[in-house]
Amino acid sequence: MSYKSLPATFAALLLAQCLGLVHLGSDNICPVQAAFAADSAGDANAIRLSTTRIKQGEVFQLAVDADALGLTNDSDVPPPVEFLGQSYKLFVVPDHASGKKVFQALIGVPVVEKAGARTVTVGSLSRQLSVIPAGYPVQRLTLPPSKNNFNMAFGEEEAMNKAKGTVSEERLWQGNFSHPSKARQSSGFGIRRIVNGKLLDDYFHSGLDYAGFTGSPITACAPGKVILAKTGVFKLHGNTVAIDHGQGVVSIYIHMQKIEVKLGDRVSQGQKIGTIGQTGRANGPHLHFSIYCNKTACNPNQWYKAAF
Ligand SMILES: [Zn+2]
Repeated sequence: MSYKSLPATFAALLLAQCLGLVHLGSDNICPVQAAFAADSAGDANAIRLSTTRIKQGEVFQLAVDADALGLTNDSDVPPPVEFLGQSYKLFVVPDHASGKKVFQALIGVPVVEKAGARTVTVGSLSRQLSVIPAGYPVQRLTLPPSKNNFNMAFGEEEAMNKAKGTVSEERLWQGNFSHPSKARQSSGFGIRRIVNGKLLDDYFHSGLDYAGFTGSPITACAPGKVILAKTGVFKLHGNTVAIDHGQGVVSIYIHMQKIEVKLGDRVSQGQKIGTIGQTGRANGPHLHFSIYCNKTACNPNQWYKAAF
């Protein structure tokens, strides 16, 4: 199982949960530094970061002034942010308090990224930061071969990947995200696994599981637009909704019973979008909820606590 085939990991974790193999406390969450870390010297610090010490599986915000990028005309397009071999689009911050034109991007650090020093660049500017260990729990389990397959329907993986990679221009949310269910969290984000004695290097639980009863409500975690609403099609994920919040941020809800929104709908934060079920490869009713930031699965608990 590779990092590229993450959908399979949802089900694996669920299976383990349903087999009673997962019992987790609350996640280890570190408060996000709200203030931008900025130093004194010139171009080296023209890139401002919400933190220079970022945990695996969490998100940091990057800001840079148009002036620092040498962009003088309104029509000038900023270069992309480059980080860990991936490019990120910069978006204009409307009415920035400084009165200057400021660009911003949200960047997720993969759970599987090794701790250590890293560099983020924007055009000719660069800035150092540290990836720090998040200490996600490791789960040991034994799975018989018959329980260890993750077949998907034709087109299922492609549809999921397309949803996760959606980057639209308009930012549709403000402030904190909210829990999509009132049920208790039964499985945390970022859990690693040792299966049949072997550590799966690239595996991690890409979201949070909420152990709600069948038919209990699922609500949108933030305002957005429905970009995926599939019933009766996906073998692995089951009935699935994806909501685009804009600027590379997407939330995904899987194993649903009923879906009560349709493709293209605009939804508000807290609006009911359907109900908890056990469709797809699920041995018990629950919601698997995940947040993707430019295709990288990010810890939802950070988004409940910090306003990006
Ligand atoms: Zn899950």
